[in-house]
Amino acid sequence: MTPRHRVLIVEDEQDIAGLIKHALERGGDAEAEIVGSGDAALRVATERTPDLIILDLNLPVLGGIDVCRILRSRDEVRRVPIIMLTARTSEDDRVAGFEHGADDYVTKPFSLRELLARVRAMLRRRAGGEPLSLTYRGAHLLADFDAVSVLVDGSQIRLTRREFDLLRFLVLNKNRVVSRDRLLERVWGYERVVETRSVDVHVGRLRSKLGSAGRQIETVVGLGYRFVD
Ligand code: CA
Repeated sequence: MTPRHRVLIVEDEQDIAGLIKHALERGGDAEAEIVGSGDAALRVATERTPDLIILDLNLPVLGGIDVCRILRSRDEVRRVPIIMLTARTSEDDRVAGFEHGADDYVTKPFSLRELLARVRAMLRRRAGGEPLSLTYRGAHLLADFDAVSVLVDGSQIRLTRREFDLLRFLVLNKNRVVSRDRLLERVWGYERVVETRSVDVHVGRLRSKLGSAGRQIETVVGLGYRFVD
C-alpha cells in the first residue's frame, strides 16, 4: 500500500477548500487538512510538516506571498512543494509567486482535475527525487523553469502552460528518448482523454516557437521525442 500523502490546504473560502479536500481524499492516497488563514498555515506546517501545500494567494491579513516567503525561510518546511492558487492572471503575480518560492500555480477558476493532476505530478516528482529547480542553457536556448522564463537568442518566447511543461519535461530528460505515452502521463497528468496525436501537435507548436532551438527536439521515429543537448 502506498503511504498517504498529507496535503495542507490554505484557503479562507470554505467551499473551495472543501471541494479540494474532497477531491484529494477521494482517491484514498492523500489526506488533506484545511486552514483558513496564513497564521494557521505557518503554525500547522511547522508543527507537522506536510508533503505538499496548496496555498491561496488571496488570504485575509497575511497574504499568500508572505506565507510562502516565511515558509521558505523555515528549515522544516523549506523543501515542501507549494502550489499557489491565484485569481489573477497577470504575469507579475505569477512571477512574484515563483520568486517567493512557489513551485507551481493554478489560476482560479481552476478545474479540480487540473489541480489534482498538478498535485500528483508534484508529489511524484518529489518522490522520484526530481529536482524542483531547473534551468537550461544552450547555444540558443536559455530556459529558467523556476522563473517561467524561456529565451531564444535573447528574446523572450511566450509558451502556453502545456508547451512550457512539455519543454520542462523534455529538458529534464535531455538526451533520452521520451515516449508519447510517458509525455501524456507526466505532462497531461491523468487527463488521459487526450490522444497521443495531440502530443505531436503540441511538440510541433513548441518546436516552431523555439525557432533556432527547435531542432533540439528530435523526433525518434516509432519511439517518441528526445531533447538533445
Ligand atoms: Ca481566498
